[in-house]
Amino acid sequence: MRVLIIDDDKVDREDIKRVLQSQKGTVIDEAATAQEGLAALTNIKFDIVLLDYLLPDKDGLNVLSDIKKLNLTYPCGIILMSGNEEGELLEKALESGAQDFLVKHEISQQRLKRTIHLARKRFELEYHVRKSQERSKLAARMDNLTRLYNRTAFESSLEKMLSSDASYGEGAVIFLDVDNFKFFNECYGHEVGDGLLKQVAERIKQVIDKNDKIARIGSNEFAILLQSENVDSKKRRLLNRLLKALDAPFVFDDVEINCTFSIGSTCVGDKTSKKDVIKQANLALHKAKGESGYSVTEFDASLSAEIEKHRKIKEGLEYHLSQGEFNVVYQPIVRAVGETVSLEALVRWPTDSPFGHFRPDEFIAISEQNQTIDKLGEFVFKQAVETLAGLKKKGFNDIRVSVNFSPIQLNQWELCVKLVDICTNAGVLPSSVILEITETALLSNDFATKRMISELAAAGFTISLDDFGTGYSSISHLINFPINQVKMDRSVVPVSHEDDKRKNLLSSLVSMCKSIGAIVVVEGIEHQWQADFCHALGAEKQQGYLYSKPVSEKELYEVYLQPESEDCTLQRVAI
Ligand code: C2E
Ligand code: CA
Ligand code: CA
Repeated sequence: MRVLIIDDDKVDREDIKRVLQSQKGTVIDEAATAQEGLAALTNIKFDIVLLDYLLPDKDGLNVLSDIKKLNLTYPCGIILMSGNEEGELLEKALESGAQDFLVKHEISQQRLKRTIHLARKRFELEYHVRKSQERSKLAARMDNLTRLYNRTAFESSLEKMLSSDASYGEGAVIFLDVDNFKFFNECYGHEVGDGLLKQVAERIKQVIDKNDKIARIGSNEFAILLQSENVDSKKRRLLNRLLKALDAPFVFDDVEINCTFSIGSTCVGDKTSKKDVIKQANLALHKAKGESGYSVTEFDASLSAEIEKHRKIKEGLEYHLSQGEFNVVYQPIVRAVGETVSLEALVRWPTDSPFGHFRPDEFIAISEQNQTIDKLGEFVFKQAVETLAGLKKKGFNDIRVSVNFSPIQLNQWELCVKLVDICTNAGVLPSSVILEITETALLSNDFATKRMISELAAAGFTISLDDFGTGYSSISHLINFPINQVKMDRSVVPVSHEDDKRKNLLSSLVSMCKSIGAIVVVEGIEHQWQADFCHALGAEKQQGYLYSKPVSEKELYEVYLQPESEDCTLQRVAI
């Protein structure tokens, strides 16, 4: 047994030594000050420390707390000694980490032996309790599946990094997410799903430096925390290694999975809070997830605004749809002679919306993503058909209405039945309705889309191919689908008299469509010379600001639909 006596009183030390020396195999070290004692404790493993309460440089309670900070990793009992008995001191000593207390003048061989024995036992007990607490603390910071840190541990490491001084260099956070994990999990079973996460964790482990921290922070989301003098270049190198490591297929007994990952990253500036860093990395990841295939996005301030806008649109879509508050405006489509033959229904975000104001191309893209497009499309269709019914009641019998359809809407079960029902309820024939669909809807070439388009055409709706000239402009689509009308996109309309490129392109597109008997509409006509050019090409219909901007239903009645002739045709409107 090795014993350290820390006492400035030489006589007292000698007394204790005498008592102890009677015990065989006892090695005794002495220290006269707290400082000497603590120095000895850092170098030598003692079984027992006998610590005097009154030392010249510190009192015993302070020494106890210094010993605690040494975090001794072996059993070492500490006995505090004092000249007299004070109940309060005993309690404080035990609270500060001593295992027992002795009054100096009561020290006898018997008593000291027993106290040492008990102190060692107590220490061992405390030591084991502490160890098991540490183990459960560690378990609370670990992810069971991957043996990586979990979200709690990641957040506390990030907090530590943020509160430490900048001497370790700058920090950065990378969030990584397995694309379509839910699909793999459901398709191949949870065992493969778990295996995939384990393999991803292993591959990340292999490419990071030993000082970097990785954690699994969500079901299929990982986080890497790094710190370096030049964190940007370190991050770039790490991302390169990471993408290479994750590129190879993940192999299981009877299946091989190729997956892509979305990665978002941000720098841990010295002024950002933990919450901000996590939010920024999440925003970057969210943006990366919106792209297809492998995608890495670095956070910047504009992203924050973009995502905020995205969020407002999503919330606004849900809210205004539930309230039926979207507006529909109408833009006339005229025959070359100037007579309005149909009205294109275009949706508008409600005016005075508390969510802000957004353009249709902005909110329609989001509505397609969050599956509200079916509801929105149905709302616009119903409004358009009812507006048309109102016009017919006023005697405008020949006018038709065009409604835009997003490719996603065509996947709706019983869409055709639903549309026919709406028409029937409004007292309008499907033949008065034109459905504008973009060529992308035909690209998937799947059986269901094909069948739906044929079903709609068979029900009497006219199918118009929108935005022609921007995508594939494929003649086979015109031949293989029941398309009666093609709408040339405004990007192929010549912008000047000298714009020969567009003139030639538009001319060939128009003759291609006419060769298979489709009616041609040209949109985006803003000048009379463009109208004349399209007319000369043989395009039957035109649409654009030259004739009218989209207007509300009220304006339609007030301004544009005043019949100038007895036969109720709609006269060409000038702006
Ligand atoms: P689109 O179907 O190609 O509609 C034509 C767009 O061109 C409209 O923009 C219209 O206001 C604009 N436009 C018309 N004439 C001219 C012109 O002479 N010059 C110029 N510069 N522009 C002209 P808008 O209303 O902003 O709609 C944008 C797109 O949003 C539409 O493109 C369509 O793809 C989509 N969209 C609008 N309403 C709906 C809807 O109810 N359902 C679906 N699925 N999509 C819609
Ligand atoms: Ca359109
Ligand atoms: Ca268009």
